[in-house]
Amino acid sequence: MLDQSVLHDVLVVGGGINGCGIARDAAGRGFSVLLAEMNDLASGTSSLSTKLIHGGLRYLEHYEFRLVREALMEREVLWSNAPHIIRPLRFVLPHHKGLRPAWFLRLGLFLYDHLGGRKLLPATKTLDMRRDAAGKFLKPLFTKAFEYSDCWVDDARLVVLNARDAAERGATIRTRAEVIAMHRADGLWHVEIHDHLHKATMQARARLVVNAAGPWVDKVASRISGTDGVHNVRLVQGSHIVVPKLFDHGRCYIFQNADGRIVFALPYERDYTLIGTTDRDFEGDPALAGITEAEKAYLCSAASEYFIRPVLPADIVRTYSGVRPLYDDGASKAQEATRDYVLKQEGGAGAALINVFGGKITTYRKLAEAVLEEIEGVLGRRGGPWTARAALPGGDFPVDGFEAEVRGLIGDFPFLEDAHARRLVRLYGTGAGQLLAGAQRKEDLGRCFGSDLFETEVRYLIAREWAITADDVLWRRTKCGLKFSAAERDALAAFLAASNGREVVAAE
Ligand code: FAD
Repeated sequence: MLDQSVLHDVLVVGGGINGCGIARDAAGRGFSVLLAEMNDLASGTSSLSTKLIHGGLRYLEHYEFRLVREALMEREVLWSNAPHIIRPLRFVLPHHKGLRPAWFLRLGLFLYDHLGGRKLLPATKTLDMRRDAAGKFLKPLFTKAFEYSDCWVDDARLVVLNARDAAERGATIRTRAEVIAMHRADGLWHVEIHDHLHKATMQARARLVVNAAGPWVDKVASRISGTDGVHNVRLVQGSHIVVPKLFDHGRCYIFQNADGRIVFALPYERDYTLIGTTDRDFEGDPALAGITEAEKAYLCSAASEYFIRPVLPADIVRTYSGVRPLYDDGASKAQEATRDYVLKQEGGAGAALINVFGGKITTYRKLAEAVLEEIEGVLGRRGGPWTARAALPGGDFPVDGFEAEVRGLIGDFPFLEDAHARRLVRLYGTGAGQLLAGAQRKEDLGRCFGSDLFETEVRYLIAREWAITADDVLWRRTKCGLKFSAAERDALAAFLAASNGREVVAAE
């Protein structure tokens, strides 16, 4: 339970990428921080993205140069700090004769290559699709393509690693802890937090509150102000489909669609292809967002326009839908609303509130720095920016050191199969050895719940990463859910319920 007598400098509402990034930065500067997340870390939009650390080529068409430049510069900063969960990815953009002209694409990519900070990622090149391996999966009419660089990230793990680092630097992280009310008194925030696990309400006090509730930001702002109808963000649903793998190389396709939008087809979890996304205005509870039949048909038809083998709704093995909390700049179309972030501060020296609107996974660290500048403006300067050159947990190895880490892990634990070692290094980086510490034989890893998920790993996730339910483990800490049967999942859920000494929360 929470120590209710503590006065926190900063209370962060929301354990998505923005909330966890802010908590980490603040804790690292020496502020005392409490983060309250009503469900699991990354259970909101931050585990439901396309998983790209990218400048956003398409945003150039909307003249969002500031955002694109900042995002482009972040790619190599984040990759260097977390080379286990972030890796470079080459994108193949086929030229479609009826759509944007080739010179226009080349110009956009020239800007993309030169706008910001590319030192390690390779530059754009032109592909002859009649010869290139990427061409053999597409219809023969696509003879030319451009190939450029961005990065891929395990979005949910990026959130959890920020939370872990925040905690290691002194922050208190509470999950299943919903902020239900707050008011100002004596220059402080008095906050009521409902603990869904223990079914109890706790009180907390803080000098400053950051509302980083993503798609719920207006709802939290309404709770704070006590007025209904606060409207700052436009909610836009984006859905993805997962199908058995459509191509055998490691590059990602970016397809232009006749409606002006683009759709990605990414290699996903070795055996699958991830296709997304859509854009549709959303109303209601973001937790209930789900793909529609029209979105499935849209994504299948967008991909089938390019792939030789048509993608059919019957091929879909999994879908997920997230809700973007876009700052409402009055743009008429969902796809045109700004992807940039906006901060709004209310109240000065006594009980200030900072609302966070919009943002991307890619720019979370810069967003956190901008929030910290405001926090230091109110609470006084502490450390200044520090996260640009600070590895996230497990990320303290060189960007080209992944294979060496895998070899090192197999050297230390020779009973590990190659695929298992790779999965562990991808998730835990240099922390994988600590997770396996003491194991001499496979049997020492304990019970196998399915695929290559063993008890040792599950216990580590409970102890170190706030895992409570089967979904926390199977979809957000790992992606083992793709390989689990319903019976295996139920067995894991029962184990977790017993280990946590709690009932599996109803929300699952
Ligand atoms: P969230 O992740 O939603 O976190 C907010 C958290 O607040 C939630 O966990 C919620 O449970 C919690 N919360 C709400 N109310 C309360 C309360 N009262 N008390 C306690 N906790 C509360 N960005 C990229 O950079 N690259 C991409 O490829 C990309 N693709 C995307 C694809 C899609 C389909 C979508 C929807 C978005 C994509 N984005 C991408 C954008 C990115 O995912 C979001 O901007 C980002 O995840 C938002 O993070 P957040 O922390 O603000 O919100």
